[in-house]
Amino acid sequence: MGLVVQKYGGSSVADAEGIKRVARRIVDTKKNGHQVVVVVSAMGDTTDELIDLAEQVSPIPAGREFDMLLTAGERISMALLAMAIKNLGHEAQSFTGSQAGVITDSVHNKARIIDVTPGRIRTALDEGNIAIVAGFQGVSQDKKDITTLGRGGSDTTAVALAAALGAGVCEIYTDVDGVFTADPRVVKRAQKMDWISFEDMLELASSGSKVLLHRCVEYARRYNIPIHVRSSFSGLPGTWVSNEAPQGGKPMEQAIISGVAHDTSEAKITVVGVPDKPGEAATIFRAIADAEVNIDMVVQNVSAAATGLTDISFTLPKTEGRKAMDALTRAQDRIGYDSLRYDDQIGKISLVGAGMKTNPGVTATFFEALSNAGVNIELISTSEIRISVVTRADDVKPAVQAVHSAFGLDSESDEAVVYGGTGR
Ligand code: ADP
Ligand code: ASP
Ligand code: MG
Repeated sequence: MGLVVQKYGGSSVADAEGIKRVARRIVDTKKNGHQVVVVVSAMGDTTDELIDLAEQVSPIPAGREFDMLLTAGERISMALLAMAIKNLGHEAQSFTGSQAGVITDSVHNKARIIDVTPGRIRTALDEGNIAIVAGFQGVSQDKKDITTLGRGGSDTTAVALAAALGAGVCEIYTDVDGVFTADPRVVKRAQKMDWISFEDMLELASSGSKVLLHRCVEYARRYNIPIHVRSSFSGLPGTWVSNEAPQGGKPMEQAIISGVAHDTSEAKITVVGVPDKPGEAATIFRAIADAEVNIDMVVQNVSAAATGLTDISFTLPKTEGRKAMDALTRAQDRIGYDSLRYDDQIGKISLVGAGMKTNPGVTATFFEALSNAGVNIELISTSEIRISVVTRADDVKPAVQAVHSAFGLDSESDEAVVYGGTGR
């Protein structure tokens, strides 16, 4: 008995059949005596389709209108889900993010949740309803405009509601059986983990494992909400993400390596011919920051002795590419570089594991695996518990597979199941 927050991703509600299947699951949870709050994503690839549509109308859509458009996706699924539940003889009410009290800052397309005031959700629950909340959206505190939380943001909505309502767990239902040692779409022999620490999951998420969003894991860690990632298509137990491994959960000890992540959503910008003198990097990255663009890796080449010029490369989300190029072009005189290069045919592969800190040889094995697979490395970055490299986009799959095998992560028997979704 207690309050449960469940989140169903787009692939779980991709069509009418999916919505009815999810409705039955929710009703079963209610029948078991729980109060149920459901966070739902847009159906299937609806969000991508809405983005495509917006881009056909305007190459750089206004943030406010873009958010208004995208939140429509979640409204469709929340209303249909509430109807499907009522059809099974149970009471349900749907709420937009704004109605559910999800208050954000006013940065359109990637707003941050700053408060959750779920008064209407509590009332709906007290009256015996199942509450269905549209994920990925909120309302800005100052302007009262509709905002979105960035791609995959429904995960964050779910954890934020779980924290605000004092739920014991946040269940994230998706199209695979949990968190695997690599994306099961890329590595058939990836293994499901029974448990992973917040720390390692944060690193996997920020390295591109989109099964959970980085911000959602950050939020869960801050409020200490355990997350249970599982499939909405099977009844199997999934992966627990929490501070400590649950009793009886495997592995009880921290594994040396948690997994391999990949990301093909980034691009690389190279600023060519930058004078090698103090203040140049500062001017470049101030221009980027003022354009509100987040960057990931940075590399500065050794300057050529003859010219005293150097190149600086950095990676950033492809979606921010145009903004960053425009900002640098405007700052060309101040920076004094020769030219800019934009490359969106790159991919990033990351190896993650807290045990890396204390185990020598991990880095060597990682680079040997890439070399044996004939993969050329363009950029390298490391943290205490992660090594990442940038390669050509075409090399990402073989690189992930090679690294996964080299660290003995391939399962001996089972093939990982992918139940739905298009992988888009
Ligand atoms: P949802 O629609 O449920 O939000 P997502 O597509 O956002 O689903 O996330 C689930 C997908 O994440 C899986 O289908 C899988 O391809 C991908 N994925 C990437 N890395 C991993 C991983 N380490 N473990 C499990 N799934 C992963
Ligand atoms: N529908 C949004 C997206 O596709 C949010 C989500 O699914 O979490 O990014
Ligand atoms: Mg997702």
